Amino acid sequence: MNLIDLHTHSNASDGSLAPGELVAYAVQKGAAAIALTDHDTVAGLPEALRAAEASHFELVPGLEISADYSDGGMHILGYFINHTDPVFQLELERLQEARRERNPKIIARLQELGIPITYDQVLAVSGGQIGRPHIAQAMLQIGAVQNLDEAFTHYLTKGAPAYVEKFRFPPDRAMALILQAGGLPVLAHPFTLNCTTREQLIRLLRELKEQGLQGLECLYSEHTPEQSREYLALAEKLGLLVTGGSDFHGKNKEGVEMLTGTGALRIPYERLQSLKDLKASH
Ligand code: AMP
Ligand code: ZN
Ligand code: FE
Ligand code: FE
Repeated sequence: MNLIDLHTHSNASDGSLAPGELVAYAVQKGAAAIALTDHDTVAGLPEALRAAEASHFELVPGLEISADYSDGGMHILGYFINHTDPVFQLELERLQEARRERNPKIIARLQELGIPITYDQVLAVSGGQIGRPHIAQAMLQIGAVQNLDEAFTHYLTKGAPAYVEKFRFPPDRAMALILQAGGLPVLAHPFTLNCTTREQLIRLLRELKEQGLQGLECLYSEHTPEQSREYLALAEKLGLLVTGGSDFHGKNKEGVEMLTGTGALRIPYERLQSLKDLKASH
């Protein structure tokens, strides 16, 4: 079977591999195609696309935007975006600005809590854009925590003492940005929305679809078989395309492997073909 992975991160956001290394890794793993979907940035795409071209590998240009959604985490993937679109790049710059505002505040909170990490230490573990996983890595390096999970649970996760909010686009705005740059918006890992009932999730998906949503990430490392089945049924019912990915972050997300996730993930190339067919018809 030709297997693909439509959700991966490079060190342009919070993965551990450089974009070119990520492509080389996908080639080595025998992937039929992957998408690079860094958080809030397309900075890794030129390097990844060059590496893919050099090794005749199919790389889907993408990104993953964190949208403003109070009940849980809403991440919107955008596939086949024109990452050179100036309007798109300008809007993404607002998200970079939001991180530049937030990161020093998180570090100041940690210092108040007795954890002496510095901005430079955090910058040193990042590939440019800083996210909470880099702060967690820096905390691990100085021995303030035993592992990355502890850094999140005790300090960095929403509700924890060093959590700081940052500006996010509302879902309709995030999807409009992706659409105007020629991309296809897809809702990532729907379980993080924390919908309590199937009806609530259906209402939300219907609303998102009216705003431009094209697909649902039904196949995902952390979905149980029951969740995958439910999301596949919902995608069918609502007329959304099915996508899937591992959320590979290299060594920055332990236990999640490209293509296979935590072990059982398998995404056939046909899922990408459907996306490409839709893109061609737009
Ligand atoms: P940020 O973009 O700075 O808000 O950080 C988001 C990143 O942190 C995402 O890549 C998540 O995978 C990661 N993350 C969020 N919560 C946790 C957690 N509890 N444990 C490990 N990583 C997490
Ligand atoms: Zn990430
Ligand atoms: Fe995500
Ligand atoms: Fe992700």
